[in-house]
Amino acid sequence: MADCDLCGCSTSRDVFRKEEWQLVACDECGLVRVDPRPEAQQIAAMYAPTAGYQLQRLASSSRYSRWEERRCEVLARITGPARQAPARLLDVGCSTGGYLERARAQGWSVQGIELAKHLAVYARTKRGLPVEHGSVDDVLERFGEQAFDVITLWDVIEHLPQPLRAMRDLYRALRPGGKVYLATPNLAGWVPRYHWQVVRRLWKIWPHPEPPLHLHQFSRDTMARLLSAARFEDVRFAPDEIPLWYTSGFRGAPRWTEWLNGEMHAPRARRLYLMTLPVFLAARLCGGGDSMIVCASKPVANRG
Ligand SMILES: [Zn+2]
Repeated sequence: MADCDLCGCSTSRDVFRKEEWQLVACDECGLVRVDPRPEAQQIAAMYAPTAGYQLQRLASSSRYSRWEERRCEVLARITGPARQAPARLLDVGCSTGGYLERARAQGWSVQGIELAKHLAVYARTKRGLPVEHGSVDDVLERFGEQAFDVITLWDVIEHLPQPLRAMRDLYRALRPGGKVYLATPNLAGWVPRYHWQVVRRLWKIWPHPEPPLHLHQFSRDTMARLLSAARFEDVRFAPDEIPLWYTSGFRGAPRWTEWLNGEMHAPRARRLYLMTLPVFLAARLCGGGDSMIVCASKPVANRG
């Protein structure tokens, strides 16, 4: 049993078991993690092309990749254009480089890091992006300290075995006054809470956590604590949402044929979609989405 990565507390309570993976919540800070954590070798194997990790992103015509394109546009609007030249932007876990390509078009001098080799190769060869293959721990020191003006982690922090260590390393890689942006699922969103109360009791399922790829599940509270522990300041949150078709088990926004016939791999998808829709829409209206966008700054007065 590993201690909590965020606060070091050694005791926890069981939350939910998903397949063979046990999710526990830290007794001290409440951060939810997979325990025991998979070994480094196991983690590396999950991102191998043979494991099928994000192969759908390589198919440009898939419904998933079309959603991904729109998502990248939204994220590029959030970070906006480079304000001075050269302005360096690092995207950690850049996947096939859809976001980085847009950031480059907005004047950023871009760099990517990607753990899944097939995705890194795609970003390099198809999009001509500078992408290093490896984990943050392995790759980051190649760039030196204070190398970047902006660092982004889009749906990545939840995959990291040691998120606090990663954020501290990224802090050092940022120049003073630089910003980190990230997106991650929000455990305290309305949809996961509703599913916890209702769907878990009804069907013994809880779609929100995704072990073992997602090793940590954050809320705004635990995310604010993580960033503060890594010495980031001026932490800001914006609501975000996971597509309801994804949460329900569809592989893309469902087509009518699929809707009528159901999908073989997700027999409950239609029912789950319909019974969640009112909560999903209410969460959108009220900012209670099941994902969050976070921005934080490294203070201008550099304290290391
Ligand atoms: Zn803790």
